[in-house]
Amino acid sequence: MQQHADQYIGGAWRPTLGGGVLEVRNPATEAVIATVPAGTAADVDAAVAAARGAARAWGLTTREERLAPLTRLRDALAERQQQIAETVLAELGCPIGFATAVQAGLPLAVASSYVELLAGYEFQEKVGNSTVLSEPAGVVAAITPWNYPLHQVVAKVVPALAAGCTVVLKPAEDTPLVARLFAELVDAAGFPAGVFNLVTGTGVEVGAALAGHPGVDLVSFTGSTAVGRLIAETAGRGIKKVSLELGGKSANVVLPGADLGRAVNVNAANVFANSGQTCTAWTRLLVHQDQYEEAVAIAAKAAAKYAPGDPASPETRMGPVVSAKQRDRVLGYIRSGIEQGARVAAGGPETPEGLPTGYFVRPTVLADVTPEMTVAQEEIFGPVLSVIAYRDEEHALEIANGTEYGLAGGVWAADEETAVAFARRMDSGQVHVNGGQFNPQAPFGGYKSSGIGRELGRHGLEEFLQTKSLQF
Ligand code: NAD
Repeated sequence: MQQHADQYIGGAWRPTLGGGVLEVRNPATEAVIATVPAGTAADVDAAVAAARGAARAWGLTTREERLAPLTRLRDALAERQQQIAETVLAELGCPIGFATAVQAGLPLAVASSYVELLAGYEFQEKVGNSTVLSEPAGVVAAITPWNYPLHQVVAKVVPALAAGCTVVLKPAEDTPLVARLFAELVDAAGFPAGVFNLVTGTGVEVGAALAGHPGVDLVSFTGSTAVGRLIAETAGRGIKKVSLELGGKSANVVLPGADLGRAVNVNAANVFANSGQTCTAWTRLLVHQDQYEEAVAIAAKAAAKYAPGDPASPETRMGPVVSAKQRDRVLGYIRSGIEQGARVAAGGPETPEGLPTGYFVRPTVLADVTPEMTVAQEEIFGPVLSVIAYRDEEHALEIANGTEYGLAGGVWAADEETAVAFARRMDSGQVHVNGGQFNPQAPFGGYKSSGIGRELGRHGLEEFLQTKSLQF
């Protein structure tokens, strides 16, 4: 078992100023595989002081001076793909295939996109008698969750560094190991001391101290809507910029005339990937009432392909959920669905056969779900698909837009024009049209309670900039 007692502050690994530890468990075996420090406000003070100390000089570097270490960091992410995948497998329980393709592959794609973007980005423009400068926002607090633990780190830290900001990262309690690996790669890439800092610890202690710290200029948070609200309140009091990537309850709407089989099978892949722990997961499948039973049957058949199992086996398509707490939460939602009248078409709250150890949940399809049920309104964050019938297109739109969230969604129609017309009326930050692929350079973020601000691509870089006008 690895026992770590240090934080990465001011360009070096230093003994933590806190005494406690966080245990990291392998969710497939329930074994403790590592401990990392549960940092304190004193660690946060030291990390913010280091970031503040480095901010002026790093903020005045040229694009080329930032590109050199960022390119080395990107190359290191490419070289360490296997180690990254194995680390995420161990601490998140993510199957090796998905861990390699997405948990390791996506951060590399995002880092590569920022190296390319930065090389051509203009940080000043002429407006009449003014020169408008895009300057770094300053010291960034990055607070991240556990479900895509390296992607969410890279999607904040890399554009922040590219913009000329300095960063203090607080990763999620359950997945600090891949964040520590990232810190090692940043260290080896040769950034000036203090430009990047890592403090592990709990949300209530380290996260809250960081979000409220007077030395922080911008808080970039990904996580639950409940914590996002607290962060926004704290940041508001400090007049800090804030960027929030929060929860979702995304709808996949299959309009009459669409390819139902493909739409439902793609939906199953989308919702069962990563054991349903995806903020953009299409957790609500909306189908016309005339096609309802056909859709439920296809979904139930598709769910059988996601039998949970050992994430280290290349055949496994679905591993456990991250923790016992998360498993109990997901099972509670499945039971609430049943109590409120949903029919279990696949899966259910029982422990999967042959898996007495590990936080495994059956891939579950709930039928006869109505829009007001708890399972149709709240984010479950587990492998649970709710199938909902609609009467006509207006009804489908009302249901699709009828939650507090607006992160993502899908729409399928016989022709693209019909699908796009529907997508334009969805209150959602991204919509996949007829199975369109995720694009790591397209702006990513939520409408309504799913967030404020955008990550990825040019929009993601600009979150970390502020403007100054020089008049001549
Ligand atoms: P969470 O909100 O509990 O925790 C997220 C992070 O915030 C963790 O690092 C945690 O330690 C920290 N935190 C907790 N309490 C805090 C506090 N009071 N002050 C400061 N920081 C605090 O969320 P989670 O359970 O780790 O992640 C799952 C959630 O994240 C889901 O709701 C999911 O939808 C959301 N998510 C959103 C996106 C997106 O881009 N929109 C992406 C992934 C996950």
